[in-house]
Amino acid sequence: MKFDFNLIVIGAGSGGVRSARIAASYGKKVAIFEAGEVGGTCVIRGCVPKKLLVYASSFVKTFKAASAFGWDIGQPQFNWQKLIANKDEEINRLNKIYHSLLDNSGVELIPYHARFVDKNTVTANGKEYTAEKILIATGSTPFYPDIKGIEYAVSSNEALSLEQLPKEMTIMGAGYIAVEFASIFNSLGVKVNLVYRGDKLLRGFDQDVRNFAQESFIKNGMNVILNSNIIEIKKDDNQFEVLMDSDMCLKKQDVILCATGRIANTHNLGIENLQVNRKYNGQIQVDSEQNCGPDSVFAVGDVCNNDNLTPVAIKEGNLLMDRWYGNGNTYIEYDYLPSTVFSQPEIGSCGFTEELAQEHFGEVVTYKSTFRAMKYAMTDIQDQTFMKLIVAKDSDLVVGCHIVGADAGEMIQGFAVAIKQGITKEKLNQCIGIHPTSAEELVTMK
Ligand code: NDP
Repeated sequence: MKFDFNLIVIGAGSGGVRSARIAASYGKKVAIFEAGEVGGTCVIRGCVPKKLLVYASSFVKTFKAASAFGWDIGQPQFNWQKLIANKDEEINRLNKIYHSLLDNSGVELIPYHARFVDKNTVTANGKEYTAEKILIATGSTPFYPDIKGIEYAVSSNEALSLEQLPKEMTIMGAGYIAVEFASIFNSLGVKVNLVYRGDKLLRGFDQDVRNFAQESFIKNGMNVILNSNIIEIKKDDNQFEVLMDSDMCLKKQDVILCATGRIANTHNLGIENLQVNRKYNGQIQVDSEQNCGPDSVFAVGDVCNNDNLTPVAIKEGNLLMDRWYGNGNTYIEYDYLPSTVFSQPEIGSCGFTEELAQEHFGEVVTYKSTFRAMKYAMTDIQDQTFMKLIVAKDSDLVVGCHIVGADAGEMIQGFAVAIKQGITKEKLNQCIGIHPTSAEELVTMK
């Protein structure tokens, strides 16, 4: 072979590892470069450890409900350090599994940062490596706005491993990460101040969902501060003071969490001289073949900033390898991607918001329901569940489904399958619900 490898993958996160393994399974010689821990954002400092903390914090509600079901559990005690130690142990276990997945598939792991020399060559730790094709799967990293004192803020990376559970904290932003972490800490008894520059949390979600979720967060005790930009963070001993343009000031904050979005990891990759296609914000632009300009250079996952979700990165990489090295001819479809914000309450969404559905399909019919889930009926917990279906009037197709409430993530997955397959409201009406569940509401909406 003219090159050292058939394929070089840069970045051993979800998209990179899957691509490397699939290519190797087709008998290709593959190297993967990773200077950090194998597993990437999702496994090491994202979805997985975050969900473990979500589980930890959700016990509070269970304990609260328990006595109504006859349980006398006394005063539950929580130990943050124990949770973090157990979480670290679990992440180490998964990291080892990722290592053995690569080993067992014959992929060569090169534990250094790789930088392009030309479109078929990278350099790492003083050595050059060549490949027919190079796949960029370097993911993304937290974005910090240019604010005086921003160096005192931490990102979600550090929030997953704080030494102490804070008493009071400020969270900046109102997207996925902001509301997920706000919910975790709020449930664990931390006073959470969620500061957002806009007038309603969760921009991009359906308006009814945004209203319902925001009200639920406030009812759950979160201090939501809207229409406010943080202009300075001051250090005061081991605590912080947060100044806002609304003249408001938050004193004695133990932690400032910056959750203001993520940026693609394209720095120090050496792509400047390669004529890689870039978006306005520097992120990599790919075509439907995941190609980003040079004929041998491709990219998958968050570094392309399309839909920044782990299963999307995995699918992009897997299908690409199938097309290159197998007999595949399938392409990823980005419509009707389901997602869940693991806030409390959870928000499960698939398809269009009402506003976008109107733009896209013309007239729509909406079906909404708000109810108290049965598991809280005998308790003091007043949490409600909200569900909304959006149906295109002309075709009767269900084009949007949104759930806010307990188990929304589990519910939306199944409905997303039906919606992706083009289910109509009439067909949905023919389905029999499972009683008593929350999900049955979605097949009985009139
Ligand atoms: P998001 O884009 O979801 O949210 C960023 C938030 O920060 C928005 O509220 C935004 O405000 C605000 N913001 C941006 N810039 C500034 C600024 N300069 N000053 C003040 N506020 C600012 O990003 P996240 O980091 O929360 O998540 C990144 C992506 O990762 C998500 O979009 C999602 O794709 C993925 N993710 C998915 C998860 C899941 O599936 N459960 C969990 C976590 C992340 P505005 O709305 O006004 O722009």
